[in-house]
Amino acid sequence: MVTQELNYNYSEIGLKVGLEVHAQLISNRKLFCHCKPQLLPAHLEPDYLFERRFRPVLGEMGDFDSGMLVEFEKSYRVIYETFNDYNICTYEMDETPPFMPCMKTIQNGFKISSFFNCASPVDEIIFNRKQYLDGSIPTGFQRTAIIARDGFINLKDKNVRINNVLIEEDAARRVRFYDRSDRNVYFNLDRLGIPLTEIITNHEDCTTPEELLQLGMLIGLSLRILGVGKRGIGTIRQDVNISVSGGSRVELKGIQDFRQIKKYVDREIFRQLALLDIKNDLLERGINKNDFQPNFIDVSSATRDLTKAMVAFAVRLPKCKGIFIRQVQPEKTFSEELFDRCELIAGIPMRNMTHSDDPASWLDLLRINEVLNLHEKDAFVIIKGDQKSVLHALNRLRERMIQALECIPQETRRVNSITGNNEFLRVIHGKDRMYSDTDTPPISISDEMKFHSVDLIKPWELFANFPIDVFDLDFLFDNEFYSDFTTLVKEYPENTRAILGHFQKISCIIHQQNLGRQVLSKHGYTNLIRDLITNKISKDSLKDILVKIDSGYSYDEIKEKYEFIIQEISLDQYRKLKVILDETLNSLNQNNRKKMFYVIKTHFPMLKSEQIAKAIEKMIGGIN
Ligand SMILES: [Zn+2]
Repeated sequence: MVTQELNYNYSEIGLKVGLEVHAQLISNRKLFCHCKPQLLPAHLEPDYLFERRFRPVLGEMGDFDSGMLVEFEKSYRVIYETFNDYNICTYEMDETPPFMPCMKTIQNGFKISSFFNCASPVDEIIFNRKQYLDGSIPTGFQRTAIIARDGFINLKDKNVRINNVLIEEDAARRVRFYDRSDRNVYFNLDRLGIPLTEIITNHEDCTTPEELLQLGMLIGLSLRILGVGKRGIGTIRQDVNISVSGGSRVELKGIQDFRQIKKYVDREIFRQLALLDIKNDLLERGINKNDFQPNFIDVSSATRDLTKAMVAFAVRLPKCKGIFIRQVQPEKTFSEELFDRCELIAGIPMRNMTHSDDPASWLDLLRINEVLNLHEKDAFVIIKGDQKSVLHALNRLRERMIQALECIPQETRRVNSITGNNEFLRVIHGKDRMYSDTDTPPISISDEMKFHSVDLIKPWELFANFPIDVFDLDFLFDNEFYSDFTTLVKEYPENTRAILGHFQKISCIIHQQNLGRQVLSKHGYTNLIRDLITNKISKDSLKDILVKIDSGYSYDEIKEKYEFIIQEISLDQYRKLKVILDETLNSLNQNNRKKMFYVIKTHFPMLKSEQIAKAIEKMIGGIN
């Protein structure tokens, strides 16, 4: 598939993005029971199943959350897969109340909030219930507690605020997912209850996808540096909040590869800008919401391939001709934007929906035109299925058309990792979704638990103050170089890139020579790299030195053998070099230093790299 490269001037369109990071925390039990916080193997057949249906309850302020009502309309039949195993007990099945929460997890929550400079940690942990009617939690709510507010992270030239750090239970994981119109959904209960932290950044503080990527990577790295974050696929999930000027806050979920974030953000920008264009177009055509009347016309007699239980209904959409084939994302039209929403809410597959701009073959168009009596600029949508679902879908479609005149709906949307586009998941949840949990008593927090002094350099301090990027930091941490690196850059701040280069070289040698990383890191790299930076030893000796250390020597024992003073080569040698180079290379310029280096190295194998480098500098200097 050809993917369209999008490029935006982000400040011109007023992009604002923020993150909600959900990361599983290391623990030896689940948050509210003593089950093992581990996933079961994927292929395991469940020992038994049970089923639930969901309905919304009143929020703290006595109202129903509008998002919850839409969830309720989906009327899912939820089937849970359960196993006779140590990972699932009666708590996950909602057959017993929660046990006392895992205190280690709560403590980790405070470690995290201290690390992110949070100014206001709570005195008491109070668990709340956050409604979820998608079936991912059998109780219909997730238990969640706020740990602290008002932290921050530094990027190169700005602070990004951390609004909240929370502790909560992970939801069950959806399995056997084939079809968005299917009203039966399946969940495996093993993931439910695994301790999570949720870190919410201010959604106005990042203004480019690059900043968002840096932010996400720095948060993930911080959790690993703190030693609290689990590792592996699915242990960290990032939702992105995104809006453009005149648009709305939309939440993107299901981002698997965070490094692809620019693509996902760009495609949502495309969508918001396209929807704003469509809105202006509709208003210019003089359309108002009274044009969209809930008069649905039975067109079953003009529709082919209807089974006995099916009907087909149409809605007339005056002056809307041409709107449905407008592109709202690369390879996605406005009709698909509307229909994927109706599909998910009403459970009718998209193939049973059609519109006048590109009518399906199952319509008898001649008869349709007779029945609907359209004007030239009018449009229609026709949906077939069982009558109740069809009318439900048309109502939702009409509602969405009215919204198209007013704003971009605030929605939670799921990213399709293959196309990069996104699709409707649910209406964004409001504040009425929370209410207090009466099962768990408040837990008082001591000051020593609240304020952890963390004796670790924060990755964003390195990132903001030294010429390195987040990928470098990721490399350093993954290879266990992070703490040695922080020591060294503090001593030699102007040599940051060189220090990084030495670690990269060391990592290469470790892989090539299959050396034991642990043996090496136990001896510390700091002395070795100090000597490399101050030219006491040559880069060329690095491999020998590492192999020696791996065989049991300490660096101090062997370093004398490798120490040397880098001398400049003699004038005589220099002249010889110049002749060879002039013969080999037509022109000497800055771009072929690498080539020059290898030419010299072949002719003078006894010279150290540093000596050659110096000679090249001198020759280039001479030419200029
Ligand atoms: Zn359990």
